[in-house]
Amino acid sequence: MIRLPLNTLIIAGPCAAESREQVLTTARLLSEGTGCTVFRAGVWKPRTQPGHFEGVGEEALSWLREVKQRYALPVATEVATPEHLRLAIEYGLDYVWLGARTTTSPFMVQALADALRAYEPAVRPCVLVKNPLSPDIRLWQGAVERILEVVGEERVMMVHRGFSSSTPSRYRNAPMWSLAFEMRRMFPHIPLLNDASHMAGDAALVLELSEEAMKLGYEGLMLEVHPQPEVALSDARQQLSPEAFHKLVSGLSCRCSDGEWGLEGLRREIDELDESLWNLIVQRMHVSRRIGEAKKEAGIPILRRERYEELLTKRLEWAKEHDLDPVAVRTIMDAMHEESCRWQL
Ligand code: PEP
Ligand code: MN
Repeated sequence: MIRLPLNTLIIAGPCAAESREQVLTTARLLSEGTGCTVFRAGVWKPRTQPGHFEGVGEEALSWLREVKQRYALPVATEVATPEHLRLAIEYGLDYVWLGARTTTSPFMVQALADALRAYEPAVRPCVLVKNPLSPDIRLWQGAVERILEVVGEERVMMVHRGFSSSTPSRYRNAPMWSLAFEMRRMFPHIPLLNDASHMAGDAALVLELSEEAMKLGYEGLMLEVHPQPEVALSDARQQLSPEAFHKLVSGLSCRCSDGEWGLEGLRREIDELDESLWNLIVQRMHVSRRIGEAKKEAGIPILRRERYEELLTKRLEWAKEHDLDPVAVRTIMDAMHEESCRWQL
């Protein structure tokens, strides 16, 4: 039994279309009441290094067209060039997505936006814009704006798939949720989906991320499903079997009420705490300014690496005892230290 509301978008299918049989088998299994609402498969695979499976190309589009006809599932694939887009439209794809590598390049995004403009609105597919590889929200915002300008709010969605990061993360791509929240703030009417498969990088971690996204109020998920994940030609580690996918979706529930009940008291408490917290931060900056004056007098440089290391180590130890995420604490400390240095200038 699927408990999600009907408008929750669950895009599912293999990372890549590998053969007609693999595509049709996956689609048949997914069409049997699993909760999948759109079928996905990569036809052109952007690989970071050469020598890996790069997708079947145009032939696979005919398999996707067959999925649409046989199983009445809308179909989606990745496009990275105007030629990919032309073929996707020719084969009647309902959705196309701009992958993380494409969103990284404003030239590529603009070329796709210009190509879309040349088609009648009625034949344009809905466009999903994934976040770029790097945690640069302006690139993601810019890509959404370029597409939005052509197709309008009804035909664009955002996909949060996580970011490459040098700090170790439990996941293949660090979620950095706050960047997605910021996109939500900037584009309140554009649906936000979570690609828990590319974010997790490991089938065993897809469930926890999917649940988190649903609890946060995302409008849907994009998940990779392969009939035999262990022999998949790309992203084998992160693909779910159709059974695992069905189990995952059946256990999900979403939070879609707009109500605010019971929150007023707690919100007031948060507002009061924020007020005190910010007053303390301002006080801290005034002390920083006095330190800055003392350093200037004594000819000491502002940046004292050992002192900051000492503060950080102490705070990270303390964070552990208070169940605070060390990465979040580090981010806050770094931001506060940077602002503090500015007050010492
Ligand atoms: C994909 O969805 O198969 C893909 C390549 O995704 P991303 O662009 O997020 O890496
Ligand atoms: Mn993939």
